[in-house]
Amino acid sequence: MFRRHTHIISVGHLQIGNDCPIRIQSMTNTPTQDIAATLQQIRRLYEAQCEIVRIAVPNFRAIEAFRSIKSALQNDKIYIPLVADVHFSPSIAIACLPFADKIRINPGNFHNYYDTFKTLIRSAKKEGKAIRIGVNRGSLSKSILEQYDNTSEGVYQSALPFLEIAQEEDFYNIILSFKSSDVNQMIDDHRYILRKLDTRGLNFPIHLGVTEVGNDTYGRIKSAIGIGSLLLEGIGDTIRVSLTEDPVHEISVAYDILQACNKRINHVEYIACPSCGRTQFNIEHIFNEIKEKTAHLRGIKIAVMGCLVNGIGEMGDADFGYIGAGPGRVNLYHKNRCIKTNILEENAVAELLHLIEISLSIK
Ligand code: SF4
Repeated sequence: MFRRHTHIISVGHLQIGNDCPIRIQSMTNTPTQDIAATLQQIRRLYEAQCEIVRIAVPNFRAIEAFRSIKSALQNDKIYIPLVADVHFSPSIAIACLPFADKIRINPGNFHNYYDTFKTLIRSAKKEGKAIRIGVNRGSLSKSILEQYDNTSEGVYQSALPFLEIAQEEDFYNIILSFKSSDVNQMIDDHRYILRKLDTRGLNFPIHLGVTEVGNDTYGRIKSAIGIGSLLLEGIGDTIRVSLTEDPVHEISVAYDILQACNKRINHVEYIACPSCGRTQFNIEHIFNEIKEKTAHLRGIKIAVMGCLVNGIGEMGDADFGYIGAGPGRVNLYHKNRCIKTNILEENAVAELLHLIEISLSIK
């Protein structure tokens, strides 16, 4: 599957870009100075398999808290790269560098600081740290808006001077993001900007996200469309699903987006029909039971289909199939081959699990 060619960058112990796994990140929403609460949230994110955590550093007191959080995690042998999110203050960005694995700056509120950015780049280069140049449609600078309006070109021009400075300094440990709360805009921006950057050889990795998506189902759908569309075009090296919820909720959604785009397999891929008047068993109940009992497996596809009419064709390339064969009866398939027919429904899940177990042990 096509993936955009990029530089590979290092953020802490992780490599990002090109053919490296697409990484999942989140951001704490506790006050950074509340070290205990922030640490607890990072630990929960880490347990949920979050791979990079961003922390807001709005003032000098937060730098000290950031340092304490980093060292507490190291003492607990929790090695998760931490990103300092800095706005408006290059001096805070520079002060965070010794403890942060990456600094995120927003060109929209950093545009008067090109000289200081050069200092930041030089320090990052010396200390082996990464920088994210994260442009947000919602916070383009006044001068960019006056010249280019709120357009993809404006987003591009917002990032460009920083990239040119980095290029002058021969510094490539950079990742870019171009976020918007509008899904169409966010997708268009990436297509437009990456065409230009790649032509100039500025092929930095990309962090993807749709901002301010809200919560619940709609927030997840917006994120999935924005992030997923670009992933399918080969764009995206880290992702964040930004929900107005406990950030731990973001992680499983992010893994599901990657899996649905076939970019990173984290659990069994399930294929199940919605059922219809032909279904002669409680497919919803059976499907949940199969999911629960196979939740520990990785890298296989299991299909649960209501009937033989369409089920065989529609289960596609599933490794294992559970297909209704008549009232109270089920057929089991392995790689499109029917292995058992007319099994009693009450025994069918156990038979399927047995078939999976045997097949995987032979593999
Ligand atoms: S597979 Fe069979 S039961 Fe399921 S939706 Fe299709 S026709 Fe209906």
